[in-house]
Amino acid sequence: MRYSALAIMRQVLQGHRGWTPAWRDPEPQSSYDFIVIGGGGHGLATAYYLAKEHNAAKVAVLEKGWIGGGNVGRNTTIIRANYLLDGNQPFYELSLKLWENLEQDLNYNAMVSQRGILNLCHTDAQRDAYRRRGNAMMFTGSGAELLDAEGVRAMYPFLNFDDARFPIKGGLLHRRGGTARHDGVAWGYARAADQRGVDIIQNCEVTGFRIENGKLLGVETTRGYIGAKKVGVAVAGSSGRVMAQAGMRLPIESHVLQAFVTEGLKPVLDGVITYGAGHFYVSQSDKGGLVFGGDIDGYNTYAQRGNLPVVEDVAEGGMSLMPMIGRARLLRMWGGVMDMSMDGSPFIDHTGIEGLYFNGGWCYGGFKATPASGFCFAHLMATDRPHDVASAYRLDRFRTGQMIDEKGVGAQPNLH
Ligand SMILES: Cc1cc2nc3c(=O)[nH]c(=O)nc-3n(C[C@H](O)[C@H](O)[C@H](O)COP(=O)(O)OP(=O)(O)OC[C@H]3O[C@@H](n4cnc5c(N)ncnc54)[C@H](O)[C@@H]3O)c2cc1C
Repeated sequence: MRYSALAIMRQVLQGHRGWTPAWRDPEPQSSYDFIVIGGGGHGLATAYYLAKEHNAAKVAVLEKGWIGGGNVGRNTTIIRANYLLDGNQPFYELSLKLWENLEQDLNYNAMVSQRGILNLCHTDAQRDAYRRRGNAMMFTGSGAELLDAEGVRAMYPFLNFDDARFPIKGGLLHRRGGTARHDGVAWGYARAADQRGVDIIQNCEVTGFRIENGKLLGVETTRGYIGAKKVGVAVAGSSGRVMAQAGMRLPIESHVLQAFVTEGLKPVLDGVITYGAGHFYVSQSDKGGLVFGGDIDGYNTYAQRGNLPVVEDVAEGGMSLMPMIGRARLLRMWGGVMDMSMDGSPFIDHTGIEGLYFNGGWCYGGFKATPASGFCFAHLMATDRPHDVASAYRLDRFRTGQMIDEKGVGAQPNLH
């Protein structure tokens, strides 16, 4: 069924009784050409682009829970291409281009909204760094504008400009960045992949890999053994646990990240703002809630809930940036498990086991990467060659000293 204004009108006349499920609920087949483990944004996008770009016929996504239950449905929805390093920025620009046409491509309203992102700076050195970053963004066509304090004040007069320690000196504006409805992205990819024949199998946890003589034969699951020519792992926060089943140890730690939403307010914030003196980012949802977050919790965990010191830290960041936030009541908060890599950049690579591929290490920035990650992972799985814009995302980069340390903070996951 194609979604359109006409389809809605037809359904109105039928009392909305004619809508069909957005995707099928198939039984797993005994074998597939391609299996993607993880029905988050990255896994679903991979399956979709395998079918669409590479005409792959027998593709399955195996998801241990339900579609949208992982980080794809837990994030603060920010999409952007404002990176500095060569290994990263072209990849995120490809992602942004795919976002810009995503809804037409999927025939699904994912509420992609290019409302702009403003990174605030509070010192002269920070402004210099943003100038450099803005140039890198302009080289790849992502667009960037450097604003002075008056430029920022014209957009957001309610910010705390004259803080004694962290006055706002300006900001880097990325107009093409913005937000998208997070779980809508998962549903859109799931529906579009299903329409191209991909089997999306929920409640199917992968519990092991069958590997013989360095070659992958298939996967053990809670619904039985399934054979596969090629398997791609895209399980985000569970990367360490799943790859351990194949005998691999990854340069990844799992940490929880929390998100917060206030009660609905009148429109006050039409873009996304990030605070440059602490870790705090905020936007306003179409329902009116202020959606915000900050740092990861400092310890390793697989629990999808956070602790109070980080709540306090995020609240402090919000108060020092926009004191009026103190009047809003917090409505909801939740956590998701992040796959924090040691240099803050991801992996899209072979594993060294024939037929097994790995996608992960997205840290807390993987939502915006979803389209390009799926596109490039599908390219790698189908052709056995890395896509040009993802060629730096190698698993051996720590051994070869070719880290992609975007923040320049070293091997310290909680600082990325
Ligand atoms: C609070 C929060 C805020 C964030 N904010 C942003 C943001 O503003 N912008 C941004 O770009 N990024 C953000 N992120 C990061 C982003 O959400 C993630 O990097 C990204 O969603 C991870 O990829 P995914 O969607 O594929 O993950 P997931 O949705 O977590 O998908 C992985 C799936 O694998 C499944 N799985 C695990 N183990 C198995 C198994 N053994 N067998 C089968 N299936 C398995 C899981 O059930 C899960 O559904 C945020 C994350 C959080 C938690």
